[in-house]
Amino acid sequence: MMSKKRIAILGSTGSIGTQALDVIEANLDTFSLEVITAQTSATLLIAQARKFLPKEVVIGNKDFYDQVKAALSDLPIKVYTGSSALVSVVESDSVDVVLTAMVGYAGLLPTIHAIKAGKDIALANKETLVVAGELIMGLAKAHDVNIYPVDSEHSAIFQCLAGEEHNPIEKIILTASGGPFRGKDRSLLASVKKEQALKHPNWSMGAKITIDSATLMNKGLEVIEAKWLFNLTASQIEVIVHPQSIVHSLVQFEDGSIKAQLGLPDMKLPIQYALHYPQRLKSDFPRFSFMDYPSLTFEKPDMETFRNLAIAYHVLEKGGNAACIINAANEIAVDAFLHDRVGFLEISDVILETLEKVDFIPNPGYDDYVQTNEAARRYASEMIQVKI
Ligand code: NAD
Ligand code: MG
Repeated sequence: MMSKKRIAILGSTGSIGTQALDVIEANLDTFSLEVITAQTSATLLIAQARKFLPKEVVIGNKDFYDQVKAALSDLPIKVYTGSSALVSVVESDSVDVVLTAMVGYAGLLPTIHAIKAGKDIALANKETLVVAGELIMGLAKAHDVNIYPVDSEHSAIFQCLAGEEHNPIEKIILTASGGPFRGKDRSLLASVKKEQALKHPNWSMGAKITIDSATLMNKGLEVIEAKWLFNLTASQIEVIVHPQSIVHSLVQFEDGSIKAQLGLPDMKLPIQYALHYPQRLKSDFPRFSFMDYPSLTFEKPDMETFRNLAIAYHVLEKGGNAACIINAANEIAVDAFLHDRVGFLEISDVILETLEKVDFIPNPGYDDYVQTNEAARRYASEMIQVKI
């Protein structure tokens, strides 16, 4: 019998984290869960720990440590707290693969530590590659570590590339659902509220990525993520809107042939493909039928209304720390939108102005990213404060 793959899930209480636990639960003879972490969701983290009995559990926020520690005191589980524990727990000898399912810039440092410890990465946290793609891909190469994409579009491309190792990519086509506001104009978008933006037509996800999907920033971040994962230039990455979210993305080769990966939208598929690559696991997920979808449709993204996608292409061309700047500004602006402190269209204003104001660094190292992230957050927050 093959030994089990030993998994750490960073952000186990979120949308990706809980679906990854569903995958593990359905394949207990294939996976063992060694480490789980969360920031504040103590009750769910405790329930997960009692069910799966991982060796180590981290609750990031210290206010919840006593609660988690007490609730698990009858079990042989080590409980830690604080940001340094969130980072170092990935280095555990008992871990083979680290699933990065935490949200935002906070994913960067734990991912760096996991790579340096020689762990393969199942990468959901796209912000890590957006902020520091060059650094991360360089480290992965140096430490001979694999990065398996979890994002459904990138998983689709990765699946299309199986067996194509010697065939260069001509271009990739990332599909976008278009989000809840597809086809809407600026006058309508000026007054939309978080309740409308949080209603994604096809996917149920965490709050930040759901807003990013409504502004098309999610697709912008995915363009940058794709650049680093598949070593492409901006002109090799096309985005098309596909409202049914059935074709998860496509690859075009140099002979003109296009391969696509299709299926009903369900993140458990890319999660288990990443965790168990290269072997596919049997699943009982609902199957796609063409008869249920007599028309799959495709259209051009509206980058004038949804400026974030254009901004992402711009920073991809610009390079350096530009993507780190817009990622930080976006995190601040999305949080402000979720607290009714900026309007939907102002999210792009905050990002653009922050990009102008924060110093550009052409060849950043890790410390530059830390400083850029802080400076961009500070600037974006101040700007939002002045506006209200
Ligand atoms: P979520 O908000 O549902 O969950 C986030 C998880 O991260 C929670 O467990 C939370 O406790 C933890 N967390 C939050 N802040 C943290 C911090 N500062 N440090 C450590 N942990 C922290 O988010 P999600 O929708 O599951 O998304 C997670 C990541 O996966 C994001 O980067 C997102 O872009 C990416 N992703 C998600 C989906 C999806 O379907 N949800 C699809 C593709 C990619
Ligand atoms: Mg995606």
